[in-house]
Amino acid sequence: VNSVVWFRQDLRTSDHPALAMACTFAKQYGSQVKALYFVTPQQWAEHDVAPIQIDFIERHVNLLAQSLANIGIELTVVHLPRFADISPWLSQFCAQHQIGVIYAANEPEFNERQRDVAIIEAGLPLHLLDQDCLLAPGSVQNQAGQMYKVFTPFSKEWKKQAASIHIKPLKAAIFEASLPKPKPIHFELGEFYPHPVSSQIWDCGEDVARNILIRFLKQDVADYQLQRDFPALEGTSRLSPYLAIGAISARQCITAILYYYPDALTNEASPAKTWLNELIWREFYRHLLVAFPRLSRGQNFNVLGKNIQWRNNVDEFNAWCKGQTGYPIVDAAMRQLNQTGWMHNRLRMVVASFLTKHLLIDWRWGEKYFRQHLIDGDLAANNGGWQWSAGTGCDAQPYFRVFNPMAQSSKFDPDASFIKQYVPEVANWSLKNIHEPQFESQPYSSPSLFEQTQAAYPRPIVEHAMARKRAIEVLSSLKKGA
Ligand code: FAD
Repeated sequence: VNSVVWFRQDLRTSDHPALAMACTFAKQYGSQVKALYFVTPQQWAEHDVAPIQIDFIERHVNLLAQSLANIGIELTVVHLPRFADISPWLSQFCAQHQIGVIYAANEPEFNERQRDVAIIEAGLPLHLLDQDCLLAPGSVQNQAGQMYKVFTPFSKEWKKQAASIHIKPLKAAIFEASLPKPKPIHFELGEFYPHPVSSQIWDCGEDVARNILIRFLKQDVADYQLQRDFPALEGTSRLSPYLAIGAISARQCITAILYYYPDALTNEASPAKTWLNELIWREFYRHLLVAFPRLSRGQNFNVLGKNIQWRNNVDEFNAWCKGQTGYPIVDAAMRQLNQTGWMHNRLRMVVASFLTKHLLIDWRWGEKYFRQHLIDGDLAANNGGWQWSAGTGCDAQPYFRVFNPMAQSSKFDPDASFIKQYVPEVANWSLKNIHEPQFESQPYSSPSLFEQTQAAYPRPIVEHAMARKRAIEVLSSLKKGA
């Protein structure tokens, strides 16, 4: 009997328990390992997976095919429209190839879990492994045996448990002598993705991801606490595209932290503490998705969220999407997303707050737009970030805290260098005008410059003080908590 390793959002060969187990199984039986990857364009479109992320995945699947060929395993890429088509296909495949076991990683999202349940119920030998988080969803619980609803106690318990285990990633799997170079793989996406978007500005590969990690830990992690909020600086790791598709594992990141900072899990003063915390946020949101499946299905965490009277003005939404709100910090952020597929975390919070609070547009609209454009699109982190910003989420920002885009602009991009990169229309404006765009009734401090540029750049679509007051009134329907 042969074994199968089914690759999903874990496009690497190192620290890959499912691959390692498939190899061990096959060696035991003197049999073969078959590797599978399913391209499911209709399902991806339903999940709003961004074309740029699909391109990034395609490039990694090609590299994966090569890495697997190097260890004597052939990767078969199968095109099927939806998840539901996988089970019947696998049934036939298992029968034809005498498959004794299929190893794959557990995924936290609802549809993915339903797909796996259906496959197991169909009698297929699917064996799921927890390799997506350092600590598996469901394993970090409060004393009542429930998932935490607040981050800080979760992170304390997470660190306690992590400190009590031996954290060691698996080396790259070895199986047999190498196979010939595999043929290039092209995803057939058909009508579901008529407009491909290149991800070439992002280097790809698990080696690249590992190098980014090591460079960041050697050079930048100690300054992360100070630099991470300034979008003009390269103050964060930019590992999210790689973590999202599993070109690197959380365990590899955490092992590397502990290599350079052995007491990072226990010492509150460790220079790596803040960055480690971000990886714990990643785990927190993934654990939440498993504990509360409704989060995968577009529902508010706080049930009172359904009472919010969103304004949902389509023109305002379109202005936000295009980076034409008249608030340079918001527009620069949205243009960074549109042009690169990535947005700095501080700015994700600024634009999410602006959409949900200043414009009172349903967070689900923003979540969907992000997903459709992010190279690091990830349901757990995206949903968590959006519901946090809107005030509907678990451990969310309180509804009455409304980011002031002008204060955020002057604090986090003081010389406007980030803004000028993406909103060249305002490059010649005074810093005051850039940070504090003037609503219609108010004159600009350098009117002549404004006259020259106003045709190219809009006035703010909403006035801050009015919008803040309106948001607090409308969102007060969240007051009683979940
Ligand atoms: P670093 O600061 O270097 O952090 C290291 C890693 O920790 C990240 O790569 C990421 O995997 C994880 N991480 C960091 N911050 C968070 C966080 N707040 N929540 C969960 N994980 C985190 N992140 C995504 O990976 N995909 C998304 O779709 C996504 N959507 C978001 C939407 C909103 C509205 C907000 C506010 C945040 C969102 N984030 C998302 C979280 C965060 O903005 C990104 O992970 C981060 O900006 C990625 O940059 P980095 O790799 O340089 O992060």
